[in-house]
Amino acid sequence: MSAHVELVPALVDRIKKSLVGLKMPRAIEILDVTLRRIEQGEVDALLAEELMLRENRRIKTALVMARLSTIKTLSSFDFSFQPSLDKNRIMALAELEFINRKEVVHLLGPPGTGKSHLSLALGVQAVRAGRSVYFSPLSDLISALAKAEREGTLREKIRFFCRFALLIVDEIGYLPVIPGGGNLFFQLVNARYERGAMILTSNRGFAEWGEVFGDPVVATALLDRLLHHAVVIQIEGSSYRLRSHADLVPEHIRSNALIQPPAITPSPKRRGRPPKNGGSDHSNG
Ligand code: ADP
Ligand code: MG
Repeated sequence: MSAHVELVPALVDRIKKSLVGLKMPRAIEILDVTLRRIEQGEVDALLAEELMLRENRRIKTALVMARLSTIKTLSSFDFSFQPSLDKNRIMALAELEFINRKEVVHLLGPPGTGKSHLSLALGVQAVRAGRSVYFSPLSDLISALAKAEREGTLREKIRFFCRFALLIVDEIGYLPVIPGGGNLFFQLVNARYERGAMILTSNRGFAEWGEVFGDPVVATALLDRLLHHAVVIQIEGSSYRLRSHADLVPEHIRSNALIQPPAITPSPKRRGRPPKNGGSDHSNG
């Protein structure tokens, strides 16, 4: 037995005016239907609808801000295709505690094994949870830093990239880093060190970072920071992109290109410039 609500026209008018004032267009649209429901006792449907709309709008805007353009999700990831990958570890990361702990997550593996997919999906998860996220391929990130340096605004640019609770840097190792790019990336990594979480994806082992960044000293300094509070996840599978054409692809390309385990392990922390010579050790997985 629901309490009878008297919906006199004057009252309905007043509600409409309030909704206009509050800028609740969706609520205005569904007001008549909802009032009928209210008569039947479903009082909170109106507000729930508006709240859901606002939440969806917030997520949509935040995804654009985060540059998470291709929406990937964990539920669309087929873990059975990648048996070397421990689903529980990924699901544990999806709890997002690593963001609070300001850790660095490394996703390593050959092309097509889902590194970008997983990093995007974790980014989407973080956005949904209300965390600030920024996604960028390494080459774009370095271009942005180099441009800022040319324009005398490097400090501001680094501060901008430090604002995000989670910075995702995709595709380390695919393209050669421009001269000086390693140093710029180091300045950003050093500024974020122990202040914000990162996810990095790479098709190259840590031992190859000297080559990737064109400078072994910078690579050592980078790894020193990036392996200190780190989670290293290595995917040793075959490419999902090539799954339906596997028999057309030569064996040496198809087979699992095993990535070297970390060869460099950081020593106790220090901030500042890249060290004169590298060498140190440790990572945890
Ligand atoms: P990587 O970054 O490792 O090169 P991607 O994450 O870009 O690989 O994956 C390539 C394509 O295959 C993407 O469209 C991605 O969504 C899809 N993909 C990769 N692995 C899986 C998987 N295990 N389940 C579902 N889709 C996958
Ligand atoms: Mg990728």
